[in-house]
Amino acid sequence: MTFVREVRSGFYSDFVFECKMCVIEKKISSTKNTAVNSTIAVGIGYTQLSEFFAGLEVPSISANTYQFIQTNLQKEIQNTAWIKMKKAGEEEKKLALEYGNVDVSEPHYYIITFIIFQCSEKGELEKVE
Ligand SMILES: [Zn+2]
Repeated sequence: MTFVREVRSGFYSDFVFECKMCVIEKKISSTKNTAVNSTIAVGIGYTQLSEFFAGLEVPSISANTYQFIQTNLQKEIQNTAWIKMKKAGEEEKKLALEYGNVDVSEPHYYIITFIIFQCSEKGELEKVE
């Protein structure tokens, strides 16, 4: 497969490749989410993104498209965080049961021990007392 052309629309690109043997063209598309995802990562919004790309003379995405992508990304981030927290809680519950750290007066209370570590100047983890 050899690269033939790129069709750009704002932050979105279609990359067209062609097979030299059977002359079939295949299209690989970039995601529209990367620019919006990056704004979330660095803590900026649509206005800053638009200003930045105007400075680079690169066409930006519309406010509606930005809002649509951001809403979907926020749902994904929230769902992922919830799944991770639930999994961590289940692991803590399992460990609390294993070590008998259960409040017998309240059978649904599991006693979870927190051990806090900090990074030393040498870059090693040390337990905080
Ligand atoms: Zn082929």
